[in-house]
Amino acid sequence: MPRLPSKSAVITGAGSGIGLETSLLFASEGANLILADINLDAVTKTAQLIAERYKNVKAIPIKCDVGKEDDVKAIVDKAVEEFGRLDVMFNNAGIMHPSDDNALTTPEDIWDLTMRINVKGVWYGSKHAIAAMRNNVEPKGGSIINTASFVALRGAATPQLAYTASKGAVLAMTREMAMVHAREGIRVNALCPGPLKTPLLMEFLDTEEKRQRRLVHLPMGRFGEAIEQAKAVLFLASDESSYITGTDFLVDGGLSNAYVTAE
Ligand code: NAD
Repeated sequence: MPRLPSKSAVITGAGSGIGLETSLLFASEGANLILADINLDAVTKTAQLIAERYKNVKAIPIKCDVGKEDDVKAIVDKAVEEFGRLDVMFNNAGIMHPSDDNALTTPEDIWDLTMRINVKGVWYGSKHAIAAMRNNVEPKGGSIINTASFVALRGAATPQLAYTASKGAVLAMTREMAMVHAREGIRVNALCPGPLKTPLLMEFLDTEEKRQRRLVHLPMGRFGEAIEQAKAVLFLASDESSYITGTDFLVDGGLSNAYVTAE
């Protein structure tokens, strides 16, 4: 039995990393998809991969900047127009800018850019998803998953202050929306990935020294894989997590519970 049979889902940041792997996994589980990304070429490739591998689902690529409300409304409207309803919203797109640094050195325009994409993007996505999910008749409600990060829960001495603050905001928003909309059958959870082997982090950690500075703190001695996040997103999206809402769902290889690591 597929785990998302004929469900309608929107995934932002679907052109790379976690969003790409989640798109492929959702399609393999029977979901119809709106694939949104600021990079249209990337998300068109995701749609092509799905069309080659999974004939029974529809995946539509759309260019979208999640920091622009009109763009975000358009992807939700498209899901409802094409698939009749919206069951799952994965607000996943996010940036970690190379100039993001500590409290003294982070440029204000980088702070504002990070907040616009990482915080407003999640707010816009949640806002329009909730409005659409309220119209769902049978089954009622839906599942919203917002990508935060473990850095919102643990202090890091490798600074990226705007990013950290933005992900803290994602956790706080997620919790409150989960409470406000719980009785409408709309579940809202945050995914908190540990450090991953995706372009976002690997471009940031561009020397062996920078990578080792993190690896020594990872209990498993390796970075996570995007597919390991996608599997957690699938669980949060599906009815298997029907009694889970408002949670900070950590998928971090034990990092946030570590004192010292084995070596
Ligand atoms: P990634 O860079 O591989 O993919 C991010 C995708 O988002 C890209 O396709 C990019 O084009 C798209 N994107 C960027 N800005 C956008 C915008 N304004 N509108 C729409 N799309 C946009 O990154 P990833 O590692 O898969 O990250 C996905 C999410 O996971 C992000 O929110 C990130 O903060 C979070 N995260 C990543 C890590 C990690 O180590 N990689 C750890 C914790 C959290």
